[in-house]
Amino acid sequence: MVLQGGAFCRHPCRCPYGVDSLSISSQDYFSEELHEECGVFGIYGDDSLAPAYACYNGLLALQHRGQESCGISVNDRGVISGHKNMGLVSEVFNHEILNELKGQVAISHVRYSTAGGSVRENSQPLVMRYVKGTLAIAHNGNLTNAYEIRRELERRGAIFQTTIDSEAIAYLIARERIRAESVEDAVLRTMKQIEGAYSLLVMSPQKLIAARDPHGFRPLCMGRLGESVVFASESCALAACGAEFVRDIEPGEIVVVDETGVRSIRTLCPVVSKKSLCIFEYIYFARTDSVIDGLSVYESRKQAGRILAREFPVDADIVIGVPESGIDAAIGYSEESGIPYEKGIVKNGYIGRTFIKPTQKERANSVRLKLNPLASVLKDKRVVVIDDSIVRGTTCDRIVKMLRNAGAKEVHLRISSPPFIWPCFYGTDIPSRDELIAVRHTIEEICELTGADTLGFLPPDKLDEMLGGHPTGYCDACFSGRYPTKIPAKMLAGKERGGVNFDKKLPPKKKPSEAVCVGKDGA
Ligand code: SF4
Repeated sequence: MVLQGGAFCRHPCRCPYGVDSLSISSQDYFSEELHEECGVFGIYGDDSLAPAYACYNGLLALQHRGQESCGISVNDRGVISGHKNMGLVSEVFNHEILNELKGQVAISHVRYSTAGGSVRENSQPLVMRYVKGTLAIAHNGNLTNAYEIRRELERRGAIFQTTIDSEAIAYLIARERIRAESVEDAVLRTMKQIEGAYSLLVMSPQKLIAARDPHGFRPLCMGRLGESVVFASESCALAACGAEFVRDIEPGEIVVVDETGVRSIRTLCPVVSKKSLCIFEYIYFARTDSVIDGLSVYESRKQAGRILAREFPVDADIVIGVPESGIDAAIGYSEESGIPYEKGIVKNGYIGRTFIKPTQKERANSVRLKLNPLASVLKDKRVVVIDDSIVRGTTCDRIVKMLRNAGAKEVHLRISSPPFIWPCFYGTDIPSRDELIAVRHTIEEICELTGADTLGFLPPDKLDEMLGGHPTGYCDACFSGRYPTKIPAKMLAGKERGGVNFDKKLPPKKKPSEAVCVGKDGA
């Protein structure tokens, strides 16, 4: 029997697709979720503003973008110093340290390791001393030609202190600065050599420079705090330090701030006609109160929920969201369907986001500690639960079990993104293709594996609608395989560990309404 929205049967028995049902519920199988890249924050101010404290507040607001390490570099009348370490912002900094970080200009960074190991040397900002003085750099993103650049620099005698691609950027800027007329010219020359995703803050003894790659993969915005100029990965960080949002930095743009004021270099702005902002910023990464490239993250998530309600309606008693990003979509689903929204899962706010932990074991523990069902809400209810994504399928499996154990009569899983079928090379740590559940299994099988009664993914052809017809463009390569830039073969090979051919034939696509929702009692 086909359910509304084209739903199919879920076999109430042992998995027939070669997956041991015991292994599904093991801790290893819960090692799920995406890894975030990084966040940057910088301010050009004066002594009265205590820039290190502004950075501290900004980093606290950006903590969701990286929880492994953080750092602040300050410029005190041309002398650059700083402090960084492994840990959360609140763990790495205290009053004593912040009071030591005197200056008028500062840049700062929170990190999750998508390129380079999780060690202190790889924390940022990177500070580089060279023949023209000192540079500090904070980078969000991932270069796609970092390997080639690094090898070329090493062949010419460069010695790297870290294993992150950001150091290659710092090295290039320093090298170019020797022959360029200014730091901003050196940044421009560097941008012509690097490829991939980068939102950068560069601090020299006299200047603060913000730059965004020509595709605009990662967000970067500018604000004002009195006379001071502030840059941040997300607008929520501007609000956190009391700054007013001014505008987003354009893809390919370089903004220079010094004692003469603010000026923009747009030489690389027309390089691409279509922006490639990572769509996952809206679906999951960004904080719900941020506005990126003119679009509210909250509204886009609610819209995803509305679309799911239209595409995959179901008779249910309540709609709940998996905190945090699933909640906004659940509110949208509720508004559209008329099914009451309830808080069915409580999150321990003192545990980091699941995917931030760098090892599988740490992530597994985080899942167990992080979410708790509200039995009084769920008991004997037919529940629609909305999560933002399924990567390996492990967290969803656990959530469905958790809801059933708490008394839910039916669990209808709705996912506010399309299935992941391709890796990311722009700073999101999506696992290799053979680990992605949607590559290995059909939607019907995923429904079976997660234990849900029905399952519906946001149809890929509804992403435009989710963004309200976002006119400037976005990257959706992890859903479509259409990468906005050329991906070097070495990188492809690195992502395809486990012997899976990148050109492996995928299961035939079904029409969106059939492909993305399956459920019990199906044909
Ligand atoms: S491939 Fe996916 S995660 Fe990576 S930048 Fe594009 S949309 Fe974002």
